[in-house]
Formats: sequence, structure tokens, C-alpha cells
Amino acid sequence: MMRPEVVAAPLADVDTVFLDLDGCVWFGERLADGAVDLVEDLRASGRRVGFLTNTSNHGTAHVAAKLQRLGIEATVDDVIMPVDSLAEHPWLRERPPIWFFGPPEVRQAVADVTPIAESPDGAELVVLGRDTHLTYDDLADALSVLVRGGRLLAFNVDPRVPVEGGRMLPGTGAIAAALSYASGVEPEVVGKPSPVFFEAALRRFQATSKRSVMVGDTLDSDIAGGAAVGMRTVLVGDARPSKRDPSPIPDHHVDRLREVWSLFAR
Ligand SMILES: [Mg+2]
Repeated sequence: MMRPEVVAAPLADVDTVFLDLDGCVWFGERLADGAVDLVEDLRASGRRVGFLTNTSNHGTAHVAAKLQRLGIEATVDDVIMPVDSLAEHPWLRERPPIWFFGPPEVRQAVADVTPIAESPDGAELVVLGRDTHLTYDDLADALSVLVRGGRLLAFNVDPRVPVEGGRMLPGTGAIAAALSYASGVEPEVVGKPSPVFFEAALRRFQATSKRSVMVGDTLDSDIAGGAAVGMRTVLVGDARPSKRDPSPIPDHHVDRLREVWSLFAR
């Protein structure tokens, strides 16, 4: 007698799941449908869940508190952001004086890594986050570092941040692009898709890339970055076209976050 064939779910062997936040787990203040259940199901099945976000306008404590407020159990140890891996970036190895152009909330965390110069004249490079109160003078100060030959280190180069109701906010990448256009200096990225960032996340979770998956809504940061370090990848929703050639190809694609669980269990 033939036994019925048992086909394992494609991600059954994955033990660590990295979830993107903006446009994946949440849209501004609104959680994606099924987000609470997905995280609970993953944890109940013995898997570790990390929130791997390019958020650059807040610190880790703010993001963990927001997860809690929206109903997802999380501590700062579950959240990995660009500011967390800044210390490991090769450009900052010698702890050069930098010009910080970003939100006040992460200023201290940046200053803990490398000295922030008193004026743009004393800075060797610009570290850029998403300052939602930026002024023309802020752009001019950062530009003055770049035209003297300084480099541009951006927390991310994401063009947009999706929030409630399909509305989009200009991302850190939009500010980086303004500086880049004015100076001719291309930005380097601290967060996704930088392999330095993904490897820091794997170390933090004591995970192997082979048994990890990156779940996110953008081809250029989530899918390209996860794939580059050997993680499996899941694209959620209708991604904007990639700027890369060839375009990154996710291992799996679902329309909605709540469908992700079906990749882990049948
Ligand atoms: Mg996203």
C-alpha cells in the first residue's frame, strides 16, 4: 500500500525569523492583519523572532515600546536597528569625528560610538538618520562636510516609509539623495541591505543564515540583503520595482503577512 506523501512546509527547518517592521508588521500606527498571531505562532513553535528594521528616526526602546503598545510582546533585545550596528561599521573603526544629521533621539547612541564634532569643519564624515524636523541649514551643514571630501554614511537609503492608509513619507534615502545630488558623493548604508547589519543580527540571535529567514516588503533592502548573507527570503505585498539589475528574487512571495505562517507549517 502506498503511504500518502508528506511534504514538509518550505520553511519548516527555519529556527530564526527576522521580520521587517515598516510596511510589513505595521503601517504607521496600524498593525498588519494577523501580525500578533504570526509572532505568537512562531514563538509557540520554538522559533526566535527578531524585528530587523531600518528605522532611523527613533531608538530601540521606542520601537520595542511601540510593538508592546500595539500588542506584540517585545523587548529591546528583540529589535535590531542601524544605530545598533554603527559601532561595527569599518568607517568608524578609528572613531573619527563625525557630523551627525539625524533625529535628537538617537544622537546619544551615535555619540557613544564615535565623537560628534562641534561644527561641520571638524568632521570627517556625515552620519545620516531620518530627521523629520530637518531644515535647509541642516542640509547645508552636512553638504559642507561632503564637499571637503567627507563620506556619507546613511542609516538606510530607503526612498519611502509606508504609513497608514497607503500614505508615504520621505525616507532617509530621500534625504541622502538630496545630499548626494548636491555633492556627487554616494551614500554607504549602515542598515539593510548591508551584510554588516545582517551579520550583526545573526550574531545577536546566535543564528545561522542557513536556518534563518528574512521577511519584508522591499526587494532592495529586505530581500537583497537577506539573500546576500545566505538567508532565505519572503517578500510580503506588492513591492516597488527594484533599482538593482538583476532584480532580487525572493524565495517566497505572499500577498499578506498573515499568509506567512503557512510557509512554516501545513
Ligand atoms: Mg519595510
